[in-house]
Amino acid sequence: MTRCNCPKCDADISDTYESADPSVGIMTGGFYCDACDLLVSDFDRDHFDDVSIPPARDGDRAIGTPASELSTRPGERGYEEWLRISKSWGHD
Ligand SMILES: [Zn+2]
Repeated sequence: MTRCNCPKCDADISDTYESADPSVGIMTGGFYCDACDLLVSDFDRDHFDDVSIPPARDGDRAIGTPASELSTRPGERGYEEWLRISKSWGHD
């Protein structure tokens, strides 16, 4: 079983895992910290070891986008999403 602690308050949120459910807009599985109102997606967790990334959250939109949905090349499907995520990390 995957263990997970909240990156913000360090609470053990291992038992909050929810699987991906594209039908409701949740594209990656992840954990949820009730205290912080923070969703920790599998996609986000992949980056925790090397850099600290503040989770992007706009409205009730689920955090995390599969890398397959992204493109760093202008004009390709996924580029807009890549820009959005890049901006949420503080880059232009
Ligand atoms: Zn927390």
